[in-house]
Amino acid sequence: MTVKITRRTALAGAAALPLAGAATSTHAASHAAAAPSVAARRFALGDMSVTALLDGSFAREGVKDIFGGGASDADFTRVSEENFIPADSAQFYFTPTLVDTGGELVLFDTGLGQGGIQTALNEVGVSPDDINVVVLTHMHPDHIGGLMTEGAPTFANARYVTAAQEYDFWSGMEAGNRVGDLVASNVTPLADKTSFIEDGGAVAPGVTAMAAFGHTPGHMAYMLESGGKQMVLIADLANHYVWSFAHPEWEVSFDTDKAMATESRRRILGMLAADKLPMLGYHMPFPAAGFVDTRGEGFRFVPVSYQLNG
Ligand SMILES: [Zn+2]
Repeated sequence: MTVKITRRTALAGAAALPLAGAATSTHAASHAAAAPSVAARRFALGDMSVTALLDGSFAREGVKDIFGGGASDADFTRVSEENFIPADSAQFYFTPTLVDTGGELVLFDTGLGQGGIQTALNEVGVSPDDINVVVLTHMHPDHIGGLMTEGAPTFANARYVTAAQEYDFWSGMEAGNRVGDLVASNVTPLADKTSFIEDGGAVAPGVTAMAAFGHTPGHMAYMLESGGKQMVLIADLANHYVWSFAHPEWEVSFDTDKAMATESRRRILGMLAADKLPMLGYHMPFPAAGFVDTRGEGFRFVPVSYQLNG
């Protein structure tokens, strides 16, 4: 059988060759360079870049007691089943976030202190020494654990920003309080490099604090704005992507002031839904970013796909 090669198929064949070659060499080049990052995901926001850094993740049981305070067992199970997740366990995620404002590298929270954040930063070519500002959204151990490495500041050249009422609350604890003791070892030594921020205060141009009290006394969310785009880092405003969104009134054992935490959840999730703004939450499933929709009396977290690829 002979194959008649027309001008059209010959051209198509010729055109295909360089493409195939390019694809092969690109593939080879990516292999020669770093492996694709699994612990970091970069998003574009105007002229800023926002990088979710996976510090750690593990499974935990007993989640009704943690996330379902005030809910009946039947309601907790029903909401879980409606969202295709088990009602008796959850995967926890810890996601510090790096914002490159164009002028400064601002790191929001520091992880558990087990080295995960250094690995994630390394995957995007950033050294801890490059960080200009460390923002502590609040002072729970999973957010301040990475501040020190073997007794020395992990981010040697950084200044620090947090809320005064957060620092005052935890540094005023009696010795023996687990969080207070960690604040004493990890945060207090950095006090002379720390500035305190209030609702509406700016960390850097385009990075503004939003009071989100309740989870802790000085818990802050942060609004990022660049090139007409906005995104909110909600930190621990909502600690689980299903239960805390579907029922903001369900009490979370980690929240210091349950009623105030619920009020903050309703207010800020409501704003995100109304304005259709993207958000990134420290404990959302990695890469931790998404959108908020209303659903019934509560909300629904819609994970990001490619909307923020830039
Ligand atoms: Zn947390």
